[in-house]
Amino acid sequence: MVQLLESGRRESTYKLATLLALVDICVENRAAPDGSLMVPINEITHRIVAYYWPQVRVFNDHGRLSQNKSGRSVPDRIAEVRIQLATAGVRTAEAAREAEHPAYVRLIRSLRLTVAQQPLTHLQTVPHVRNGGTRDDFLFDASRFHKKMTVDQVDRIGTITLRPGIPEGLRRTSALLRAFIRSAWTQDVVTFNRAELDAEDLDGFLFGTDRTALRSLVEPLRDLQDDLCFYCGRRMASDVHIDHVMAWSVIPIDGVANLVAADSRCNLDKSASIPVRVHVDRALERSDLSEVARTTRVPLLHRRTSSAADGVFGSLPSGSLLWRGVRDYESHIA
Ligand SMILES: [Zn+2]
Repeated sequence: MVQLLESGRRESTYKLATLLALVDICVENRAAPDGSLMVPINEITHRIVAYYWPQVRVFNDHGRLSQNKSGRSVPDRIAEVRIQLATAGVRTAEAAREAEHPAYVRLIRSLRLTVAQQPLTHLQTVPHVRNGGTRDDFLFDASRFHKKMTVDQVDRIGTITLRPGIPEGLRRTSALLRAFIRSAWTQDVVTFNRAELDAEDLDGFLFGTDRTALRSLVEPLRDLQDDLCFYCGRRMASDVHIDHVMAWSVIPIDGVANLVAADSRCNLDKSASIPVRVHVDRALERSDLSEVARTTRVPLLHRRTSSAADGVFGSLPSGSLLWRGVRDYESHIA
């Protein structure tokens, strides 16, 4: 993995997006008894679109950012659908997916082919200066993938199977890999855009949560919690934050099941910490969540949040510090 990430000759960020998709899928899904995991190409495509969805916004005065050396075709296609759906009140990729909006369905169908022809074909090729490159299919068997494959061929293949041990390995190292992939991705975007981009600003832009998309949740979640902070139970002042219970940087899930209203004190102190399990369970057990999801058009994502929590807590070593409240941590027992 390190070799794949460090090879400095990427033509686009699509490989990184694909790796990140595989990491997230492994955190959220249980492997088969033999340790392998079958992953639909469709699912990988949905995840990739969700990563790019906020990234195709206009960045400061730089306009839309390039994600490859030659043009912006994938981001442009996503941006087009994003703008179209925003006028229909659909703001996140997850919401578009859940609504099965025709424009989104078409986008997935067309990008699925690109994903198969490019990142899935080339993901496991490590470039060498002398002999072009060698492929070592250590993640999954890619022998049926090639850059001229057709829609029919992709339909027939349908899935990839991560080799036994790979899902567990990706899950256990997910926090490290995610940080590594994001930093490589940010560096690539700086390179592809040949502009004076501030890497720190850029990282927040590319991988931060899209706050404006979640603003509609402030009032409904406040009501649901009787105006009390989800974590400390104190009455909230006007400064209400929408907090990801399973932190966004740990697993990016913008679903109502993973979102609560918190005061700034708790929200800022918790930051990217993994909370104690009790907080996650309380968030998942709230009633009326479907009603909030329906009125705000932010998807619920209950099952994803719940299985991501199982994946994260299941791979944490004993002694990891979990956030319970402001400056209050508890040691995890595995
Ligand atoms: Zn609080």
